[in-house]
Amino acid sequence: MNSLKELLDKVEKPGRYIGGETNIVRKGFSENLVSVVMAYPDVYEVGMSYLGLKILYHLLNEMDNVVCERVFAPWPDMERQLIAAGQRLFTLESKKDVNKFEIIGFSLSYELTYTNVLNMLHLSGITLRSADRGEEEPLVIAGGACCFNPEPMSEFIDVFFIGDSEETLPAFINEYQRIKRSSAGRKKMLRGLSRLPGVYVPSLYSAEYRGADFARLRPMDDDVPSKIDKGVIPDLDRAYYPVKQIVPLIRTVHDRVVAEIMRGCPNTCRFCQAGVINRPVRLRSPENIRNICRETYRNTGYEQIALLSLSSINYPYLTELIRGLNRDFNGKGVGISIPSLRVDEAFYELPEMMSAIRKSGLTFAPESASSAVRRSIGKDIDLRVLLRSAELAYRHGWNRLKLYFMAGFPSEAEGEAENISALARDLSGLRKKLKKRPAEIKVSVNAFVPKPHTPFQWLGMRGKEPLSRLKHDLLSRSSGKIRMEFNDINRSLLESCLSRGDRRLARVIHTAWRKGAKMDSWADFFDFSIWEDSFREHGFELEGLATRTYSLADALPWSHIRTGLHDGHLKKELLDSGFYPVERKDPG
Ligand code: SF4
Repeated sequence: MNSLKELLDKVEKPGRYIGGETNIVRKGFSENLVSVVMAYPDVYEVGMSYLGLKILYHLLNEMDNVVCERVFAPWPDMERQLIAAGQRLFTLESKKDVNKFEIIGFSLSYELTYTNVLNMLHLSGITLRSADRGEEEPLVIAGGACCFNPEPMSEFIDVFFIGDSEETLPAFINEYQRIKRSSAGRKKMLRGLSRLPGVYVPSLYSAEYRGADFARLRPMDDDVPSKIDKGVIPDLDRAYYPVKQIVPLIRTVHDRVVAEIMRGCPNTCRFCQAGVINRPVRLRSPENIRNICRETYRNTGYEQIALLSLSSINYPYLTELIRGLNRDFNGKGVGISIPSLRVDEAFYELPEMMSAIRKSGLTFAPESASSAVRRSIGKDIDLRVLLRSAELAYRHGWNRLKLYFMAGFPSEAEGEAENISALARDLSGLRKKLKKRPAEIKVSVNAFVPKPHTPFQWLGMRGKEPLSRLKHDLLSRSSGKIRMEFNDINRSLLESCLSRGDRRLARVIHTAWRKGAKMDSWADFFDFSIWEDSFREHGFELEGLATRTYSLADALPWSHIRTGLHDGHLKKELLDSGFYPVERKDPG
């Protein structure tokens, strides 16, 4: 390799590539160790905040027969330096080229990182298309929420992991090593691996189309499973959890101890994919969580502990847990945060318990300011509970709230912008009544994006024009202590296409990457016109795909992946919501 120092001297943040963090694992390489790279298709600061990567990195390194290192998407300044120096992408731990590893595992948690996967493979000198990869090239695997519709990335990924990987990944590595020792070639290897639970090998299936529409996916052989059930770890207390989490040398999105307290969510919001794919709800015991927090604190020195889950307010032992943590960390200046809160009466007990420790902002997700819409989306919360929760929080010293909303549901009430703004004003003004100064309220609005496996998977997104009008209306209501944000509508349209797409979108992704698309989740780099052109080049119209409402009889490209929820249940939920157009209540 060119002198690392030479490369790093020329980039803005060398800490992204340098490694050397506290708790990094360096095992070295040997014939008996399967070498794996955990690859995160976004920049270091984002990837290092991702819980799945923390868990799997340490889990794999604790296996006797594995060495696992990390690589992140290089920022464009580093990419330029790598290309100029004729240097391949390398890992943080050993600085070894990524293409020298046996397995590269990508985390796919956001569709707008897909082009980064292609870019990272390219910068590593690895053949992009799975079908063209040589015998000596690494196996490219992927896990994460996006794999619940793996089809758009199926040309580039050899093996997908569906669902929890804490058990399926070690079993996969062991089977990989066993097959490798039998000197089987790549094809035989993939076929052998496809028999493992929670594993999907897309090259063993062929897609059929009826006219312009996807018709079905067919296994190429009888011994290839026609349906893939997601991996589920039954007991969180017995599952592996890392307590020597890496402490980055540079500031990341979340610098804190992360303790996952519950997996799954007891609520059933009809738009929510995370709720479906992470079923069933599994709890970690308060004692176990406190051990994790104490040990991780000792090993890292972080001053912030995040109690993570999809809806921590629904963790049944939350008050007992926080009381215990207050005792454990008394006088140590450690803050406890609960990232995003469902509006729930269970909150009433929290502010008092949390007043002893440092306060970070509170985030609530009412999703809509209209009670009819909230009922339809399955988030039937009472805004009086939100106001009462805010009041209690203000009394105990909080002065900032963040609110999440989703806009663009099919039957959104007129005046949603005014309703959201009125709610924000009420919440801000409430503090003025109590403490003389209004609260700062940050309102963050996302467009509704239909997601596979949810009751709303058949619905189309709202079009660009109506969403833009709503965005304009909302942003014009920012004033004083109230700040409105509306996420990029074009990015949401693209996310909608990629999350519900079939195999043909692999060509679109490839074309977009070739035309220069990368770092699409970053506003500075996202170029919507590249994507519009790329879709058009392959005979698709981007906005038309994003806003398409499927018939209940249509074949869905992700139906071979099973979450455990049946189609009939999802259809009933959709019809009960009242959002499905009456004229389309076709046989399902
Ligand atoms: S409460 Fe949150 S995580 Fe749970 S189902 Fe609703 S949106 Fe999803």
